[in-house]
Amino acid sequence: AQLTNDDVRNLAKEMGVKFIRLQFTDIFGVLKNVSITVEQLDKALNGELMFDGSSIEGFVRIEESDMYLRPDPATFVVFPWRPRDGGVARLICDIYNADGTPFTGDPRYVLKRVVAEAGEMGYVMNVGPEAEFFLFHVDNDGRPTTVTHDRAGYFDLTPVDLGEDARRDMVLTLEQMGFEIEASHHEVAPGQHEIDFKYADALDTADKVATFKFVVRTIAQRHGLHATFMPKPIFGIAGSGMHLNQSLTRNGMNAFYDPEAPQQLGETALYYIGGLLKHARAITAVTNPTVNSYKRLVSGYEAPVYMAWSSRNRSPLIRVPAKRGQSTRIELRSPDPSCNPYLALAVCLKAGLDGIKNRIQPPGPCDRNIYEMTEEERAQLDIGCLPVNLHEAVRELVKDGVIKEALGPHVYNRFLEAKDIEWDRYRTQVHPWELEEYLTKY
Ligand code: GLU
Ligand code: MG
Ligand code: MG
Repeated sequence: AQLTNDDVRNLAKEMGVKFIRLQFTDIFGVLKNVSITVEQLDKALNGELMFDGSSIEGFVRIEESDMYLRPDPATFVVFPWRPRDGGVARLICDIYNADGTPFTGDPRYVLKRVVAEAGEMGYVMNVGPEAEFFLFHVDNDGRPTTVTHDRAGYFDLTPVDLGEDARRDMVLTLEQMGFEIEASHHEVAPGQHEIDFKYADALDTADKVATFKFVVRTIAQRHGLHATFMPKPIFGIAGSGMHLNQSLTRNGMNAFYDPEAPQQLGETALYYIGGLLKHARAITAVTNPTVNSYKRLVSGYEAPVYMAWSSRNRSPLIRVPAKRGQSTRIELRSPDPSCNPYLALAVCLKAGLDGIKNRIQPPGPCDRNIYEMTEEERAQLDIGCLPVNLHEAVRELVKDGVIKEALGPHVYNRFLEAKDIEWDRYRTQVHPWELEEYLTKY
């Protein structure tokens, strides 16, 4: 059941909450929060709390900086790791302009708008994310390193898996915060982990991803470790992805499942795949938004490079897991956990809806290992590549009207501006690799 403002007031009292953090994310997916005391709760719930929007990256300029926070009571949760007495709770907020209209630069609003568009077509999107991360040691000054003393691999057990205690604590904490954890395991690389939670509707999932990252980091810190969601912290081993398992329901029934169809995948599923493939290159700017994201999208580490789909192998961009019936879903394998979850889900859903509206037929499934094909074979099957760097991805976004519309002009313009600057800063740097390669050679 969804909590109301009254429930929040009562719960805060019952649970002895003293501080409430009002949270939202900026355009780049960074979680922000303002802490208030419980005495201010009424004011907050009435949407009367103001903040200076010009201090948040990508929001507004100084001249128009008064913004209001409107907490979503459904997101009330107490932080289990804080003291019981004088406890701390949080509320995720929507952002409003001084004139009472929703702020179009709020990523949560961007997602809500695309969710509403799906709603008009009769669809509800459900998403199950699989966020991977690394646990690293900190040095004597408490600064994060990329050192892990862990030598374990996929699904390994203790005693090799040193992060296990930390991960166990993360799972228990997340459960206390209302997450239903489906699986948690060691991933392929040393120090790499994954915790999967149950799918939910798009907005709930985006809220949960934002919360998840912050909880994982907090608990890691309490174990003297540093958790990072950076997509590719170490060259030569697997990077961290955040696969998005997506499905649509219509009148509560899975809209991708059709017992009569080949592979039991209905038209809606195929069109959704068609839409994702058509917009994949532009979407990548949003689902893989950092310079580092593209160091992960290389062959050899189970991350996608080529744009194809399959029900079997893990080399393509889209995999259709074997489960059918209500669990029929499409797994998009490109996203990484550095993305803004609200924007990432918004652009995926928009692409899928475009596929359905325009009946975009995907090419046939590709069940062969694409990495082993020759360039000619790929060309014959019309299998293209994902962008190879942030610059290329952003240029694709510029060309894609549908995906731009999903973001809306405010977010699109600020995103573009920031990513162009980021790319420029990166490409004008002289990196250690270059010195090693050229300094003595020339
Ligand atoms: N770590 C891989 C990636 O970068 C995914 C491994 C898996 O299939 O879970 O996407
Ligand atoms: Mg995984
Ligand atoms: Mg997966």
